[in-house]
Amino acid sequence: MSETAIRPALITKVLPDSIAAEIGFEPGDRLVAINGNQPRDLIDYQFLCADEVLELEVLDAAGIAHQIEIEKDYDEDLGLEFDTALFDGLIQCNNRCPFCFIDQQPPGKRQSLYLKDDDYRLSFLYGSYLTLTNLTQREWERISRLRLSPLYVSVHATEPEVRSQLLKNPRAGQILQQLKWFQEQRLQIHAQVVVCPGINDGVHLERTLLDLASFHCGDLPAVASVAVVPVGLTRFRPTEGELIPVSREKAREVIHQVRSLQDKLRISLGSTFVWLADEWFLIAAQELPPESEYEDYPQIDNGVGSIRSFLKQFSDAAQQLPQRVSPPRRFTWVVGNAVEKAFGPILHQLNSVVGLEVNMCALCSDYWGQAITVTGLLTGQDLLQKLQGRDLGDGILLPAVMLKYGDSCFLDDMTVEELARQLNTPILPVRGVEELIETCIY
Ligand code: SF4
Repeated sequence: MSETAIRPALITKVLPDSIAAEIGFEPGDRLVAINGNQPRDLIDYQFLCADEVLELEVLDAAGIAHQIEIEKDYDEDLGLEFDTALFDGLIQCNNRCPFCFIDQQPPGKRQSLYLKDDDYRLSFLYGSYLTLTNLTQREWERISRLRLSPLYVSVHATEPEVRSQLLKNPRAGQILQQLKWFQEQRLQIHAQVVVCPGINDGVHLERTLLDLASFHCGDLPAVASVAVVPVGLTRFRPTEGELIPVSREKAREVIHQVRSLQDKLRISLGSTFVWLADEWFLIAAQELPPESEYEDYPQIDNGVGSIRSFLKQFSDAAQQLPQRVSPPRRFTWVVGNAVEKAFGPILHQLNSVVGLEVNMCALCSDYWGQAITVTGLLTGQDLLQKLQGRDLGDGILLPAVMLKYGDSCFLDDMTVEELARQLNTPILPVRGVEELIETCIY
């Protein structure tokens, strides 16, 4: 890891009616220090702001320094947003996983799309997965001191040689000692295992899941949950790749293996503990597990149970669907073809509202070269190619999972505005069930 100097934090938004707005902060100002301390990142910022008296050092857009004193309740937010969560730069990845999604993108895109982050701060703040292979002693100490828990760890395999082979990094073999460290510190992780057929499946997967289960004990289990995810491959993967795509047979084998283990773990641990990503069932063409199996959906952001939860939320909310809408309207709902069948009942219910017509467009991604695609991987180019020239009605209902976090760009960097212009149709991003229904009926 390279240690970069801390930059003053660039303010991009001042929330209305906040303390910062009252004082006169403006986007473009830079926060240098709080009570004499320069925050490294959003985590420091939040800790430093939890004081009642703050002495802020700020540079305005013209570069002029200001000292500002604030008195506030200790838990009151200042109302500032920044251009990044990391004021001292991203901690980059030092692995070379053959399945890395960053390496499976087409060449020639903007530089930031090729940045490989492996930063524990992003894991703590946003739940992104990290490998723990690049942490210095100083960062381990900080995790412990600031109680940064839970973190989200890509384990993949617990046998040192298998994990080192997968991550192409000899330091990757220390995972069991690291899990022990979390246990001793009383800190938690959620784990994921990306299954690459022929490398970490079969007996290796069994070993990994049993090792992880051995850390699920006591009042604060060090390993809180595990997601088992199939490797995702695109047509841009390196040609010398050793990876085999997950076939229907392989998906069925893994489902059988993990479900047998789940049955045992429910008895020994009192929790299902290990969950299969929805994608396994889509590839295997099998029914998704019932809602009761997902407990409190600890890995929903990793595609575990998200379809089941969406269906459940919809069936609850559907009771409030009106019988008719006026004036009549017609929408195109774009989803990945992987969920076409699962979302059939939703489509049926929406179309039972008189005056509302929703046409589902279930697409695969030619951009990534996939015959079966989950919704979150569809790109602007996929939509453009497949929707051009069609009658799209009054607008496109666009699941916001296709857009990068906090952004209005697709994975291929096309913006929503550009797509709307090219298709000459309004695009209505919908975040979850409520927005889907609201957009359709209001
Ligand atoms: S750790 Fe993540 S970012 Fe790094 S090479 Fe592996 S998959 Fe890519």
